Amino acid sequence: MEGPLVEPSIIVHGGAGTIPLSQNAEYARGTALAAARGLEVLRQGGSALLAAVTAVVCLEDDPTFNAATGSALTSDGLPQCDAFVMLDDLNAGGVAGVYGVKNPVLLARAVLERSPHVLLCGPGAELFADEQGLERCAPAAQVVPRRLEVWQRLRQLDQQFQGDPEMEDPEGLEGYELEELRGTVGALTLDQRGNMAVASSTGGIMLKLPGRVGDTPLPGAGSYCGPGGAVTCTGHGEAAMRVCLAKYCHDLLEAGRPVLEAAQQAVAYCERRTFGRVGLIAMDRDGRRAYATCTKAIAVGLPGQTLEPLRGSGLF
Ligand code: ASP
Repeated sequence: MEGPLVEPSIIVHGGAGTIPLSQNAEYARGTALAAARGLEVLRQGGSALLAAVTAVVCLEDDPTFNAATGSALTSDGLPQCDAFVMLDDLNAGGVAGVYGVKNPVLLARAVLERSPHVLLCGPGAELFADEQGLERCAPAAQVVPRRLEVWQRLRQLDQQFQGDPEMEDPEGLEGYELEELRGTVGALTLDQRGNMAVASSTGGIMLKLPGRVGDTPLPGAGSYCGPGGAVTCTGHGEAAMRVCLAKYCHDLLEAGRPVLEAAQQAVAYCERRTFGRVGLIAMDRDGRRAYATCTKAIAVGLPGQTLEPLRGSGLF
């Protein structure tokens, strides 16, 4: 019988920002669990896509993270979600600006597998979710008390946060941290057949205008998977979009740069060009994994390791 050709690999992230110290343990536990679930799929011979989606569903269902249940709220006070998946054969599926889809990443996978398109948005995407028999919920069911509290506080302050990169520590939000205002979850996988995938999901940025779409569902901006490897980003989406951050990092990998160097260079380029605060995780074709961030911290998850939110950059 043919044995596994490749040692599988996975890395997940749970968002970047100034993760509140009080929540370090929740972020560490949630990301480690998601990575373990994804690895289980890979060990059983499951596809890179199934493993990445399994990990992201786990993070979407965990109210700690800003994706699906636990999403940031629009200026209207509703969770409006974006999600994306991509394979290294360049097949991709994304959804933007959807309300009341329990697991937007499953809808993104359905776009990839069961539609001729790459990106569906708004009511059309929600209709597609119904046609595909995906679970729907009331948007209010995805609102968690912690996010609502921040939203109410911001409304009282009459602040329009909307992801301003200068607002690393917004005035009047002492006691709340940036991670409460934005965040994304993502997973990168390499399966036993040597195929790679990325999956990602987000509620976007707190107080975003209804209809705002971030980097997450846009191929090349929030995520990319291709011949060089896989990358997924978090942080200030407007900055990531402007430099096509994920594709920038991927292309460094494709040009043969070591994964840590590619991650560091991509984040540094984005910061230099846009002043945006971003972070990312990256994986090369051999399953080597790296993270880099110019935010205060990034929540990274590996199977069997409980990592408190990390600073700077690192290689696994
Ligand atoms: N990149 C996400 C967005 O702009 C938010 C985040 O990852 O912090 O929608």
